[in-house]
This record gives sequence, C-alpha cells and structure tokens, in this order.
Amino acid sequence: TGVDLFGARRNARGFDLTAGPDLEAIEAARGPYKDKVFEAGPMLAGRAVGGLRHEVVNPATGARVGFVTDAGAPDVDTALRLAEPWAAEAQVRAEVLKRAADLYEAEFGAIFALLAREAGKTQADAVAELREAVDFLRYYADGAGALVHGARGVFACISPWNFPLAIFTGQIAAALAAGNAVLAKPAEQTPLIAGLALGLLHRAGVPVSALQLLPGDGAVGAMLTRDARVAGVAFTGGTDTALKIRASMADHLDPGAPLIAETGGLNAMVVDSTALPEQAVRDILASSFQSAGQRCSALRCLYVQEDIAGPVLEMLFGAMDDLALGDPWDLATDVGPVIDGEAQAGIAEYVGHARAEGQVLKEIAAPAGGTFVGLVVIKVPGIAAMPREIFGPVLHVATFRAADLSQVIQAVNATGYGLTFGLHTRIDDRVQQIVGALRVGNIYVNRNQIGAVVGSQPFGGEGLSGTGPKAGGPHYLHRFTGALAPVVAG
Ligand code: GLU
Repeated sequence: TGVDLFGARRNARGFDLTAGPDLEAIEAARGPYKDKVFEAGPMLAGRAVGGLRHEVVNPATGARVGFVTDAGAPDVDTALRLAEPWAAEAQVRAEVLKRAADLYEAEFGAIFALLAREAGKTQADAVAELREAVDFLRYYADGAGALVHGARGVFACISPWNFPLAIFTGQIAAALAAGNAVLAKPAEQTPLIAGLALGLLHRAGVPVSALQLLPGDGAVGAMLTRDARVAGVAFTGGTDTALKIRASMADHLDPGAPLIAETGGLNAMVVDSTALPEQAVRDILASSFQSAGQRCSALRCLYVQEDIAGPVLEMLFGAMDDLALGDPWDLATDVGPVIDGEAQAGIAEYVGHARAEGQVLKEIAAPAGGTFVGLVVIKVPGIAAMPREIFGPVLHVATFRAADLSQVIQAVNATGYGLTFGLHTRIDDRVQQIVGALRVGNIYVNRNQIGAVVGSQPFGGEGLSGTGPKAGGPHYLHRFTGALAPVVAG
C-alpha cells in the first residue's frame, strides 16, 4: 500500500523455517560448530585471565560444549577499576551498536549452534532469539541520540539463561547506548554464548574498557551489586534474587542508583465460551510448552469456561500427543530439555506430588537422557492454589462459570505478580472490561502470550514481576541515564 506503519524502523527479517533455502542456509552455517569446543572466561579491558575452569555440557545430551573460567573476587575488582564509561558521541555509539547487529546476523551459524547446544533452544526459538537480540541493538541505538541526560557510570548487567543472547544483549545495548560502562554477568548455565556475543560487540567497535565480562555464579553478581562503584543494575531472573539485589543495593549504593528488574510471573489465560477452540488450543500450546515453558511470560494457569472445557481440553491433549520432544539440534524438535539437572529435579518433584494427589490430567513422557521433563497438565481449583512459578512445561487448568469471571480476574490480581495475560473471546466489551481491571504488563488477545516483539510490544511487568520500564519500549533507555547537564551561568 505504500503506507509505512513503522517509520524508518524495521525488525530483523529472521529466517523462514518453512522455506527450503533458509533451512539449507541454517544447516550449512551451523554445521562447523556442531562439535566445536567453545571457551569463555573473564574479559577484563580486553584481556582474558585464568582461574577456575570447568566444563559446560549440553542439557539435551550431556556432551561437552566447551569450557568456562569463572571470575573471582580479584577479577571483579579489576573490572571495576578498569571500567570506563563510553565517552564517544551518541551517534558514534549508535553506529557501533548497529554494526554489532549486522555482525550478529552474519554469525548466525555459530549463534544457532550454541543456542541449541548450550541453552537447549529449538531452532524456532533460536531464530526468534537472534531476531530479538538484533532488534534490541538497533532499537536502542536509534534511541541514543534523543537522550536528554548523560550516562550514570558503571552498570552491572545480570542476565538469565533462558534468553542467553537476547536479554544478555538487550541489557548491555541499553546501558551502552546511554554511554555507560558495562560489567556483564551472564547466567552460570550459559557463559559460552555470552562470550561469543561479547566478541562480536568488541569487533563492532565497543571499547574493551566499556564492556567487560565476568562469568560465574550468583556470588559474582552479589559482589557487583554491593560495590559502591556500581551506579546501576539491570537484572532479569527470579523475583527472590531481585529482592536480594535491592536489599544489597540499599546498603551500599547511592540511593538514586536504579535497579531495572524483570522477574517472574504467574500468568493466566482466560478462554471463554465464545473463543474459537482451534485457535485457543494452538495458542495454549505455544504459551505453555514452547521453550519447554522456560519463559517468564509463559502461561501457567489456564481458565477455561466450563461450557466448552470438555472439547477444548480434548483437543489440547490430542495436540500435545503430536509434539516432538528431543534434541533441539534436530530441526523437527518442538520441545527441548530444561536447562539443567536442578531444574529437572525441582519440576519432577512438583509433578510427583500432583500425581500422587490424582491431579494430573495429561502427561507426555520425557525422552531418555539429558535433562528433559515431560509435558504435564495439572488440575487446580484456581490460580490461588498454585504455590509458585513452576519454570517448565507444566500447565495448570481451572474451569470457571460466566458469572464468576470477575472473581477470576481478582484472583489473578491477588497473586501479586503482573506479567502477561492471555484472553480468548469474541466479546469486545469483555476485552475492555478485563483490560481495565487487570494489573499486568502485557495482555494478549486471541493469540499466544509469549514472544513480545521489540518496538511493537514493550515487555515488562508490575508488582512482583518487575520494576519497569519495559524492555524494547520507548522509556527503557532513560532509566540507564542520570547525570544532569550542568547549568553554566556567566
Ligand atoms: N520477552 C519474553 C517473551 O515475551 C520473555 C522474557 C523472559 O522470559 O524473561 O516471551
């Protein structure tokens, strides 16, 4: 039509997994990285240092992916001493970040290989993750020129294993676009993809003193967040950890130091009797089982109106039978493993209790080997009966009567979390009523409730789900700035 709805901004093209040429390109590009042994470790102003080195294994197979060297206390101190905010002009920073986006796109073979081997990502998830990382780089680069305030100083960016490229990159890109120095602490489960990304950012021209890497466990993050030289923290991960970070910052940091946290959720979906069952089932499947349910946006508690619960659940269970669980390197795999043995054991224990109480409605068995868990549907009276966020492919289902819908919404608000919500209905007034009453960050109507798109669906929650501002939205970058321009009077 010639109407450009997005202005100059374009999201990354990504790959079409239904198209032969794209699939062939993926196979050819990731092939050389199938057995490559990757290495990562502390990167301090461009210098690699030694230390405690250990193996990183593939959650689907147990095979070696590479080695990581963890940062020790002296490395954290060195990084803080060497950190230098990025003094280049906003336009230069933007150009460098955009060059990094191009490099990410060019290196898709290594990236897809590591996302599968280190993080257990299916090919569809890996494509979406690379797109999101690239979109973050370009989107925050575009925002750099419009910032009114200056950099804050040194940012600690503490990122999760479930988006080891996209969220790792998003936090860093925002902090750098605003001119800060970054100390990046990737999740201990996914340091190799972080090391790869860091190399690309440096190659694009980010100064080595403005971006340093400190792999390790939570102790490394704790050293950072209690150090007074840190001017702000970007964190994505569990709600409990965010609360600890806030407490430790309150003790040691400047009272104005921001904590930008994206945390957990207890996300619901309502499917009423006017919903289209086939569409609802497709979106329930994606929302609860894609990424093996390891997204903070994932559907945890489905409320289906009792009049249509029978046919909707029957169709859902039938569709679950068709999902392929297995090694994510295989392009036919729909659901990969959970991240590690600890996650696997925690989910298995939870499901075991539900099974013993006769609450399991449907189960698809886990494949043998690796840290897989099966797909599970558990019956609950309502969201209030759920103890906590179960971070895996476990869906809870409750039924409701039309007259009780407002109680359902109250129960969702009462969890204290407020991240995503899904709604399937054909009643427009109902959409308005629910949108007005809910306290959540992202509401998705007649579609799935995962996979927020940078620039179009800013992502973040409220209450126990995060501090805001939303990632991939127009207010995010400002939170990384602070220094006021001096008034000079003569
Ligand atoms: N942004 C992701 C989504 O919309 C979720 C991020 C997360 O799990 O931390 O699905």
